[in-house]
Amino acid sequence: MSLQTHFADTRPKLFLDMDGVLCDFVTAAERVMVERNLDRAEVAREYGFYLGLAPLPGAIEAVGELDKVFNIYILTTPKWSNPSSFMEKRMWIERHLYNPGFKKLILTHNKGLFSGRALVDDNPTRNNQNAFGGELIVFGQSPFEDWSKVLPYLLENPNKAPHNHDNDWIEDIANGR
Ligand SMILES: [Mg+2]
Repeated sequence: MSLQTHFADTRPKLFLDMDGVLCDFVTAAERVMVERNLDRAEVAREYGFYLGLAPLPGAIEAVGELDKVFNIYILTTPKWSNPSSFMEKRMWIERHLYNPGFKKLILTHNKGLFSGRALVDDNPTRNNQNAFGGELIVFGQSPFEDWSKVLPYLLENPNKAPHNHDNDWIEDIANGR
C-alpha cells in the first residue's frame, strides 16, 4: 500500500473516531482512576494510557469489513495536554488495525473541516463533529448503540443515508403542500 493508493481511492470516505468508537476509553479510565487514585484529567495525561486502551467489542472486525467497501480514515482528537497521545494513537493503529489504518490517521481538534459519507463518533459536538460534511453517526446512542448496529447500517447504506421522513413537513410547507 502507498499514499498514492489512498489518493486514487474513489470509494465513499468513512471517518472513524477512536476514543469511544474504536478504543474503550471509559473502562480503562475508570480502572486507572481507582488503581492510582487519579482524576479523569490526570488519567488522560498518563504516559502510555492511550496506547494501552483495549478495542471496543466488535470494533476491529467492523473496520475489517468496512475497509472492503469504504475509504476509511481515522479522525481523532488527541489530548493537547498529553503530547504522547499524538504518538500513541499512531502506535495503537499499528498494533490493532495495521492495514486499514496505514497512513490514514488524521489528528484534529476540528472535525468540521472534513466531509464524506459519514463520521462515526461518540460525541456530536465537542470537536465540531456536527459541522462534518456528511452523516454524523453518534456511536453509543440509539439507534447506533454499538458496532452490531453501526456495521450493518453502513454496509446496507454505503453511498448515502436513507431519507429521514421526520422533516418532510418542512419540505411540504416550502412547496405549498
Ligand atoms: Mg470519541
